[in-house]
Amino acid sequence: MTSWAQLEQSQPVATKMLQNSITRNRIAHAYLFHGPPGTGKHEASLLFAMRYFCENKHEGEANPCYECASCKRIQTGNHPDLHWIEPDGQSIKKEQIEYLQKEFTYTGLESNQKVYVIKEAEKMTVNAANRLLKFLEEPSRETVAILLTAHIGQMLDTIVSRCQRIQFHSLTDHHLQQQLVEQGLPESTSKLFAAMKLDSQKALEIHEDDWFAEARKIVVQLMDKVMNSSEEGYLYLHQTYLKHFQGRESLEYGLELLLVWFQDLVSLHLDKRDSIVLIDQLERLEKFHYVVSLSEAKSLIYEILNTRRRLAQNVHPTLAMEYLILKLQR
Ligand SMILES: [Zn+2]
Repeated sequence: MTSWAQLEQSQPVATKMLQNSITRNRIAHAYLFHGPPGTGKHEASLLFAMRYFCENKHEGEANPCYECASCKRIQTGNHPDLHWIEPDGQSIKKEQIEYLQKEFTYTGLESNQKVYVIKEAEKMTVNAANRLLKFLEEPSRETVAILLTAHIGQMLDTIVSRCQRIQFHSLTDHHLQQQLVEQGLPESTSKLFAAMKLDSQKALEIHEDDWFAEARKIVVQLMDKVMNSSEEGYLYLHQTYLKHFQGRESLEYGLELLLVWFQDLVSLHLDKRDSIVLIDQLERLEKFHYVVSLSEAKSLIYEILNTRRRLAQNVHPTLAMEYLILKLQR
């Protein structure tokens, strides 16, 4: 279970705002936590709810006790007054919001305090959003809504304007790496995933996938071949690389790995050895850095970024990658 102190390390502003609203007894009716995936929105909701329902809470103190029945129930995911709403298929439907409201009316007699968290709130249909708006406008009991989204631009202005907005920022590589290590990933892998800017959910998924271990090897192989001769690089691209990296997402992972490779070369040139990500490839990188100059490495990074853009513009992957190989050859 994350604490405010932990969350504060990566999200100092959001944490301070929430702590202040708790300790000064200025809790809003609705919050909108917005920011990229994996930045702590979910953890902040849990902490907030825990403190809200905690049976041992103290004035002026933002931490829950973690020990009381309420805190425990939230930690195990079965507190009766904390409700979660997430997309049912592609969207959050009006019925889901109505169901929630009904439930609140029925149980409203027992306890006044309710918290509901709407995940991926941008996926509310217009009807659902309008239903929610009415709900937010009711001068109701002690109800707190927390809306979570990674795409604030896709939300209705009318909803956004009724919420107190709390922004969650992208994690730095360092914080992301730390988070992944805390979640049980090995140090070196965490460093690589952080350099690839994967959010922690994606990172955990990929870590358990043999596909990625193979992908790493293939990228290293590709670099070997390309540096040997143009024909070898070209052949390897067609015989192995493109067969493994199929589909947009996996092609992007391939490019991310290539980027890390060349960024490591740059680090080596600048003698910033602590920054090297593919530390198990150090010997190879050292060999390469005698062949590829600093300015060449930098311009190849630029080419890789260009390739990523071409793929996003739907240039055929084979063409885009062939062009990149041509550039990588020396
Ligand atoms: Zn408690």
